[in-house]
Amino acid sequence: MKSVSDLSIIAYPHPALRVQAKLIKRVDTRLEEVVKRMFELMYEHKGVGLAATQVGLPLQLFVMNPSGRADEGEQTVLINPVLSKPRGSEVAEEGCLSLPNIHGNVTRAKTIHVSAFTIEGREIDRDFTQYEARIVQHETDHLQGRLFIDRLIDREVAKVQDELDTLATNFHSRQRLGQIGDDASLLAELSQWESEYC
Ligand SMILES: [Zn+2]
Repeated sequence: MKSVSDLSIIAYPHPALRVQAKLIKRVDTRLEEVVKRMFELMYEHKGVGLAATQVGLPLQLFVMNPSGRADEGEQTVLINPVLSKPRGSEVAEEGCLSLPNIHGNVTRAKTIHVSAFTIEGREIDRDFTQYEARIVQHETDHLQGRLFIDRLIDREVAKVQDELDTLATNFHSRQRLGQIGDDASLLAELSQWESEYC
């Protein structure tokens, strides 16, 4: 099993980005370390949210901070999030740390209700709105193996197709060079985390 300090952000089309993350049944100090590492990676790459699947963990957990800065805003950790009661809709441009250099317009609910747990085991049951609601929806999608490019209209997909092809070419050539494992071995790594926390 990979050590926490070795976790890094994985890029499209890594197969772990397409798995359905599992419910977390227990939290320990290592999972707390994972959360710290995820915030570290998120700030380092100037993101506002990061899902566990993006660091290769098939667990229902994500971190966010709308300010994108370690010294500002509010850090939130959500475990086993369930979204409900979408209200309103809004189109805005999104990007993703697992899809570098790709942006596109995505329609999201303006307000969304979230039931989840914090890393301390506290229940969260509240509405998120506007930008925060967008982050929550984007990250919860990740936990279901869904990426924002899946929600782009055809015309927008056409605009980013070249970039997607480049990412895929890079990924597959790194696999051929043995710098990253083949899909089967990458997916096998996930089951260790599952058996530990799910
Ligand atoms: Zn993302």
